[in-house]
Formats: sequence, C-alpha cells, structure tokens
Amino acid sequence: MRLVRFSVIGEGRDLPGPRGVQRVFWGIHEGDRVLELTQEPWEGIAEGKARYAPGEVKILPPADPGKIVLMGFNYKGHIEEMGYEYPSEPLIFLKAPSSVIPHGEAIILPPESERVDYEGELALVVGRRCRRVSRGDAPGVVLGCTILNDVTARDLQKKDVQFSRAKSFDTFCPLGPWIETEMDPLSVRITTVVNSRVRQDDHTSTMLFDPYAILEYVSAAMTLMPGDVIATGTPSGVGPLAHGDEVSVTVEGIGTLTNPVVREGM
Ligand code: MG
Repeated sequence: MRLVRFSVIGEGRDLPGPRGVQRVFWGIHEGDRVLELTQEPWEGIAEGKARYAPGEVKILPPADPGKIVLMGFNYKGHIEEMGYEYPSEPLIFLKAPSSVIPHGEAIILPPESERVDYEGELALVVGRRCRRVSRGDAPGVVLGCTILNDVTARDLQKKDVQFSRAKSFDTFCPLGPWIETEMDPLSVRITTVVNSRVRQDDHTSTMLFDPYAILEYVSAAMTLMPGDVIATGTPSGVGPLAHGDEVSVTVEGIGTLTNPVVREGM
C-alpha cells in the first residue's frame, strides 16, 4: 500500500481549514487514483468516500516529522570512497524538519555554499510512539519506507565540523513521494540519477548497520513519535548539484523521488 499526504487543488475543493490554513489529507495511492483516508494512518487505515485523480491533488511530503534522524557512513562503498575506517557503531545526526520539501519541488542552492551534493537514501517513517525498541521489534513500530535526498552543503559540513547547518538549509530534504507499507527494506536496489546519468547504484544489503539496527540504536537515545523519519545513509557516488539539474532517487519497491535544482534568486 502506498500512503500519500496531499492537499486538494482548485475548483472550490481546496477546502481551507480553520483560519484559512491549507487542509492536509492522507490517502492511498492506488493505480491512477487517490482514495482519501478519514484519519492519520497511525490511528488505523480507514477509507473515506472521496476519490481523486492525480491531477486534482498536490502531493505533499509523506510525513510532517518532529525530527529527522540520519546516519553517516553506512554503505561500505561510501565509507571506502571517503577513505574512512568502518565505524564500530552508527554515527547519527539530525536535519531540521523545516528543510523538508515534496517530490517535484525545487532544491535551492544557497549563496553560502559552493558545493551542494545529493545523497540518495532509503528512509523509515515511524508509525507509533516508542522507546528502546529491539532490532527484532523494529518492524512493528515502522509505518513504512520512503525516499529521502539528504542534500548537503559539503564545503560547510567540513568547515563547521558540526553537520547542522550544512544539512539543514531550506529545501535540503526532499522526501517522498509516498510511504510504501509492504516492503522489506533490507535487500532493495537504490539508484540516484542526475540529468539521466546514473551516479549512485547500490543495494541496501551492503549497509554496515541495517535499517532496523539503526532504529534500535536511535530509539535507545530518544523517544520516537509517529511521523518521525530515520534515514539510513547514502551509497558511494555522491557528487555536486548545479542550477538547472534534475535529481531522481529510486528505491526498488517504493518509486522515484525527483526534484529540480535552482540557484537562489534565479
Ligand atoms: Mg546522508
């Protein structure tokens, strides 16, 4: 099942909520239509009556995370290309939730950086509040899997030492296009394509720490909430983005997350 978050476009159907705030819906993306859900998916999957054609909805990021936890140096090929030793335990960091954008929206290159890289990643979306989850119990707290592009100002990451600024510029977290609830993330292919050229091509089975082991490690430190996102690291082949590029990350079993790239002010 593909779970989508969306708003309704035009024709008097873009029902504003209280104080004119855009109304957000959850749905199931099935074939060429979107079936509306009557509640958020962590409260249970309950289908409503409304059905939409894809052109009638704007796809939003498939979560509104309170926190986005990411993993550095997890694919063996990426650790080797960076010239590091394999770490003995996961290295985690956070990305600001305000950096999240949906499938299709532009990644904006800020003037503060001269080197902004793509990082295609598989991500887990947490489905319920939990703490100290064992690796074996982790699949039970995950709503499903989605795709995340961990866009990074590489020059600022090196200069600052701390990752926070380099990882958190507005638009640096493309997420989506939806959550796939029925897939095994332990053994799927992941590819990143920039302007039709394949830049990353690997398999999640080459991770040092698998997605459920990462969730165990993260949840030992912090309570995870519904909608929190855990990204699982990027394969080898990271590289820069330029104004006018289009970057697509594909994860087998989920789909493709595509975003154009523009320089700020252009
Ligand atoms: Mg990353």
